[in-house]
Amino acid sequence: MIAEVIVDISNSEVDRIFDYSFCGDEVKKGSRVSVPFGKRTIEGYVIGIKDTTSVSSDKLKDIVTVLDDRPVICEEMLDLMRYMCERYNLRIVDALRLFIPSQMRGGRIKELKKRCVRVSDDFIGVEPAEFIRAGAKAQQEIFDYVSNKGEADTAYLGREFSAAALRNLIERGVFTCFEKSSRRTPYSDIVGKAKEVALTSAQKEAVKAVTESGCKTFLLHGVTGSGKTEVYMRCISDALSKGKTAIMLEPEISLTPQVLKNFRARFGDSVAILHSGLSAGERFDEWRRLLCGEARVAVGARSAIFAPLTNLGLIIIDEEHDPSYVSDSNPRYATLEVAAFRAKYNNCGLLMGSATPSVESYYKAKCGEYELLEMRERISGRQLPDIEIINMCDELRVGNNGFFSRRLIAELEDCMAAGNQAIIFINRRGYASFVMCRSCGYVAKCERCDVSLVYHRDEDLLKCHYCNNRYRPLDACPQCHGTHLRQGYIGTQKVAEQLSAMFPDKRVLRMDNDTTQNKDAHLDILRRFGAKEADILVGTQMIAKGHDFPDVTLVGIVDADMSLHFADYRATERTFQLITQVAGRAGRDKKPGHVVLQTYTPNHYVYRLAVRNDYTGFYEKECNLREVTKYPPFSKIVRVLITADSEKEAFDVLKADFDDINALARDNEKCFAYLSAMKSPVKKIQDKYRVQIVARITRDFDRLIQSIYKITDSHANNKTSCFVEINPSNMS
Ligand code: ADP
Ligand code: ZN
Repeated sequence: MIAEVIVDISNSEVDRIFDYSFCGDEVKKGSRVSVPFGKRTIEGYVIGIKDTTSVSSDKLKDIVTVLDDRPVICEEMLDLMRYMCERYNLRIVDALRLFIPSQMRGGRIKELKKRCVRVSDDFIGVEPAEFIRAGAKAQQEIFDYVSNKGEADTAYLGREFSAAALRNLIERGVFTCFEKSSRRTPYSDIVGKAKEVALTSAQKEAVKAVTESGCKTFLLHGVTGSGKTEVYMRCISDALSKGKTAIMLEPEISLTPQVLKNFRARFGDSVAILHSGLSAGERFDEWRRLLCGEARVAVGARSAIFAPLTNLGLIIIDEEHDPSYVSDSNPRYATLEVAAFRAKYNNCGLLMGSATPSVESYYKAKCGEYELLEMRERISGRQLPDIEIINMCDELRVGNNGFFSRRLIAELEDCMAAGNQAIIFINRRGYASFVMCRSCGYVAKCERCDVSLVYHRDEDLLKCHYCNNRYRPLDACPQCHGTHLRQGYIGTQKVAEQLSAMFPDKRVLRMDNDTTQNKDAHLDILRRFGAKEADILVGTQMIAKGHDFPDVTLVGIVDADMSLHFADYRATERTFQLITQVAGRAGRDKKPGHVVLQTYTPNHYVYRLAVRNDYTGFYEKECNLREVTKYPPFSKIVRVLITADSEKEAFDVLKADFDDINALARDNEKCFAYLSAMKSPVKKIQDKYRVQIVARITRDFDRLIQSIYKITDSHANNKTSCFVEINPSNMS
């Protein structure tokens, strides 16, 4: 027989099928194998089996071995591989690598086997005095322990009793050794008790819609604290009761102990957790439990969409608006599209949930492509927190130059005096810095794109990251002629220090990229805050999501404008989402919550609508704007990013690609809203020059993207790299 093998080398020149012969029935479609390749033996994946080959018999080689006890890639994933290769122009091997834990490749991680002992048959039922001499206390203890338990792990026995006594018993044949595979369980200390709740009528309706209709996509728009998690769990229970499996995705940062606890409590060992905080061994074991059907629910971040489950009954994407669902490094893919593929393949439902759906998803729901489910109220009639807007320009006017408004300080004092907890949120996105006038709130924007300009220190210029228009830097504000111009961030550390100085007897915790370098560090900070080991939590975007702290009554948003003026067409959308998410942390239990939002542009519509919790009002306004400017959902943005060691080589490819794409755009005039070639906003990263082509395509996208792939492939060479991105979450 002949196996079609993809070898595990990520290089375009070998990214094709190689035929190998084999006998017997061990090699199957989806098996991981090792094969001779040139002078080496390397790993590969069998993606097809056939009877004949066109390779001549003197060149045809045999598969060396099959690496696992079962195929690791199922039929569905092979179809998904083909879909992803076409849709995103991926190498076959890069798609396949997404499907298995990376540590498994190259045999870096294996099943953990423990050496165990049991009493040998010949010694069962024999009086111990006959073979353990009186006074050999340790031997007697070990023997009693093992015969009591039936079996025990040698490492444990050696540690707890005596290694010498154990060796003696094994050598004399009293004990028989054997190997047993052992499971590494992540967060094994996290266990919870299942809470039985009666569903609200809104929850009931949502659950009914999802469980009673087959292959449909739902958008669950539920305010913060409306009980979306309970809806997810009921829908998963339903899928399990029908003998099916389920996948539930969360943004990495929302995979908190609370979430894990809830799922373990409800589904016990049926849940497997896939999360970057897991050790390689834990990840491998959880993955294997899914593969062999021992676990039937996969809970994890983006990559869990590739969980090796068959017979899916439901896929859930929580916080569907989160940017982390778009992979912006190789291999690039959109989780939503992959989920849609798997749902269709399995003829099952796809449920996306959010308090602040992305404009694109809500648009699709409005158009009837998704079924919209709404939960407008918090559980038990709890109020959404009230949000108060503070104009920071006024603070400057009265001489307050600090991070905190007088109002926020007063609120903090009250909150601390009442023994409650507060969260101070520092808005921070990416690297970019915009230019803002602190006296009147003016922000420099591109005249063509209505997107904030970014200051480039090296050239001393302001630039638009979407169209590359350049502007001279400002000395004074064009609106009020003031000279208090601000660039850049407020640091979390500085804010935390000031808070400690203001409240010397209160404990301040900080959570940002610096304090969460270690695995589990972010879970630990949340645990400590949850256990009331601190009074104030200062943090970035990381603290915005999914946490339920009953004693938090005050949330302060220090510089809401940061994300608003980020050079991204979704800046307003992201700001609305952030404010809603962060504000949603306050008043989740019995104590009502209050939010103080500090801004230099208090009249911006995003704040007005966020204060009223008016998502639909926000959506309408934003959607109209996007329609006029032809941004998604009214177009798709395509970025062709070319990188190379030499600027000239990058430019040569850029020019060749651009000429052809330009011709394509001329032939399809009505489909292109914008097309241009430019240096990337960040011109050089790790010594690689970066140039790019940006297009906005308003119709016929599926056909045109294939033409673009053909163009870029035709000019590819081994001195440059080329990536084509669709609606990238980052344009830098
Ligand atoms: P969301 O994800 O929509 O922000 P959660 O799922 O975190 O909201 O729910 C908020 C709180 O309400 C949680 O503590 C949850 O246990 C509780 N809850 C959910 N549904 C019910 C219900 N039907 N009755 C009582 N409490 C509920
Ligand atoms: Zn512009």
